Amino acid sequence: MSETITSIDENGANSVWGQLLEGNRRFASGKSEHGNQDVARRESLLAGQHPMAAVLSCADSRVPPEIIFDQGLGDLFCVRSAGCVLGTAVTESLEYAVSHLGVKVLVVLAHENCGAVRAAMEGGHEDELPHVMGELRDSIDLAREAELDDPADVERIHVSQVIERLVDNSDVIRRHLADDSLYLAGARYSMSTGRVEVLSF
Ligand SMILES: [Zn+2]
Repeated sequence: MSETITSIDENGANSVWGQLLEGNRRFASGKSEHGNQDVARRESLLAGQHPMAAVLSCADSRVPPEIIFDQGLGDLFCVRSAGCVLGTAVTESLEYAVSHLGVKVLVVLAHENCGAVRAAMEGGHEDELPHVMGELRDSIDLAREAELDDPADVERIHVSQVIERLVDNSDVIRRHLADDSLYLAGARYSMSTGRVEVLSF
């Protein structure tokens, strides 16, 4: 993963990912700057948006990417779903960010104590959330094949599965990866520490 990011540094991905991780360090240490959240920033965005990154994360109210990465208006294109799963609408939204908004970095962000992951591990919510549970079950099966049944490990494996599925299913994502105009990052947010753990696959 580090080799990939170095090879596309000329496109700014390394710098963008670095800014996000720096913002997370500020947030985790209680030193958020809350930049780009004032009236002038809001008004400057009337003509359009140029977010630096797209983030796919869980819809969990405790995991808002803009706050975790200490970013402001127009900085992040956030797509969120229960359990951080894809489905057609999520995939198309991420493709839009890549092909039309030109984001250089796409982060798939899992988190500690994910209720959807826990429910899927316990076999719950099958009737109410069949798609969410279905995607999570695939990740759980993969984790169990590797003899991993700790929720934290399942959350990490789920990120790798989402990335793999995204690459498999999306021509747009594959094309941008092939010409080095996109960096896909996997990460997991710890609610205990406030820190984002960078995942390598
Ligand atoms: Zn969650």
